Amino acid sequence: MEHETIEGLPGRYWHRLEDGRVQCDICPRYCKLQEGQRGLCFVRARADDAIVLTTYGRSSGFCIDPIEKKPLNHFFPGTPVLSFGTAGCNLTCKFCQNWSISKARALDRVQDHASPEAIAQAALASGCRSVAFTYNDPVIFLEYAIDVAQACRAKGIKTVAVSAGYIAPEPRLEFFRSMDAANIDLKGFTEDFYRNLCSGKLAAVLDTLCYLKHETDVWFEITTLLIPGENDSRHEIEALCNWVREQLGVDVPLHFTAFHPDWKMRDKPPTPPATLRMARGIGRRQGLRYVYTGNIHDPDGQSTYCHRCGALLIERDWYDLADWNLTAQGNCRRCGAQCAGLFEAKPGSWGRRRLPVNVRAMA
Ligand code: SF4
Repeated sequence: MEHETIEGLPGRYWHRLEDGRVQCDICPRYCKLQEGQRGLCFVRARADDAIVLTTYGRSSGFCIDPIEKKPLNHFFPGTPVLSFGTAGCNLTCKFCQNWSISKARALDRVQDHASPEAIAQAALASGCRSVAFTYNDPVIFLEYAIDVAQACRAKGIKTVAVSAGYIAPEPRLEFFRSMDAANIDLKGFTEDFYRNLCSGKLAAVLDTLCYLKHETDVWFEITTLLIPGENDSRHEIEALCNWVREQLGVDVPLHFTAFHPDWKMRDKPPTPPATLRMARGIGRRQGLRYVYTGNIHDPDGQSTYCHRCGALLIERDWYDLADWNLTAQGNCRRCGAQCAGLFEAKPGSWGRRRLPVNVRAMA
């Protein structure tokens, strides 16, 4: 049998074990690899007695999206964000909504090559406020994401990690130090859900959320995809909202989004809008200030309201913004209460467009 030649950038987080294997220390899977083996994420492998990242500088394509699509509703609303991903994933969610990228194996999906400087330059040239690591989880391409983030910072461009938060404590320090914002997927609220449907651990994700809140300045929002019969019971949603309020506080925005049948979970129906509205109602009754519905048409559930006087602050319909009633400092124009998040004097005007771009041609 012909052996694959593995090439890549030497990773920063791994160590040798006494039994001769090498352990990757990026995520709580801690894959232990023999020479020539790949980790579960597929993009990290052991080559020449070290762990290497095989997708450094390679991407699955670049698009300019609205920041609301990440979703981030309180981070420079209305602005365009240059978005890209690579290949692979460190979770195995049966309901993956992005599997053509996350499950890419032969790296045939990552044909675009782009240096960190080229990406930062393209963001600047196209008027993007930020660059997002999305489509697949940036935790697995940490070294590349960090280099891109640093190149962006040098040009005044913000960076956004869209992640499941499944990362080990040590690399987490360096990773989030480089990010300005994040959307963390909280995929369910039971260990059974994580074990059976994602082959992961809920506790590790909750640990990352607490870390972000209490030990960083990263602006973050949370997304939970509600899957009929799997994680959408009133009891589980109440427990999730209660945990967010008690551990993270009432200002962390929470997005309940609609599932559509995909990947290995095609036997479930799409999430009924009523379930998303029920979840939003639970969060609001528990005192969470910013709870949203997503992936459905629901202007009421997607707009932002003042937590003190109830005034409409930002009117949204999908990714389009309409009414805007915040001051330049992010205060309610009616009562003056502060709205949590990062705002500018005016909202962006990108709208709902999705624009593919050729980053190398723009560098
Ligand atoms: S990042 Fe990849 S190789 Fe490393 S522990 Fe996680 S799944 Fe395994």
